[in-house]
Amino acid sequence: MEKKDDILVCEDCGSRNVQTLAWVFVNKNNRHSDFAGLEDSGNNWCCDCEEHVSLLALSEYEKI
Ligand SMILES: [Zn+2]
Repeated sequence: MEKKDDILVCEDCGSRNVQTLAWVFVNKNNRHSDFAGLEDSGNNWCCDCEEHVSLLALSEYEKI
């Protein structure tokens, strides 16, 4: 059972097909370090809208 709080979706269309910029350790198999900043929509991308978007938790999106 997936936890809806763990899933981020596009604020505009609700798509899960989204990306965000992240810092990675280049000498540790690109292990994820941190997100560049989820709250800045300029760091986020929706592959369906094909534009920068805000992300929010699926549980929050379903309340809209
Ligand atoms: Zn979208």
